[in-house]
Amino acid sequence: MTLHAPYDPSNIFAKILRGEIPAVKVWEDDAVLVFMDVFPQSEGHVLVISKTSQARNLLEVEPETLAALTAATRRTAAAVVKALSPEGFSIMQFNGEAGGQTVFHLHFHIIPRWADRPLKGHGQAGMADMDALKATAERIRAALA
Ligand code: AMP
Repeated sequence: MTLHAPYDPSNIFAKILRGEIPAVKVWEDDAVLVFMDVFPQSEGHVLVISKTSQARNLLEVEPETLAALTAATRRTAAAVVKALSPEGFSIMQFNGEAGGQTVFHLHFHIIPRWADRPLKGHGQAGMADMDALKATAERIRAALA
């Protein structure tokens, strides 16, 4: 998928937003949805998406949507740190297939990092255990300010 293509409403995050497939949600408001990545690159890998925008990538996003996504990413990262005590975290955001993007609905990854735990490759991690994922989501939710 190139950087320049129409928004495809059948992408997996659009289906999650429409409630057509399940997601392990952390929190949401009118503007954003924050949920667990089911193929986590590390424990506590979270995704932040807009509920209102059809931006596929960073070049297409409206300024007000980007502001909401950035604020949500920061708020969630703080909760992830409080809940899971990583030694660091990475914010990742991929644009276009050649840029590593696989789902073409703009999103930010929050990936907790520990020095002694190697990061699983992007798009190479196995599926998480659902009960463990729900428990992690609950811990992050409980740590939200
Ligand atoms: P990207 O490659 O940056 O487009 O990231 C897409 C992310 O979505 C990957 O990290 C996938 O593991 C994740 N993902 C794919 N399908 C689902 C799903 N049904 N629920 C949660 N995360 C998903």
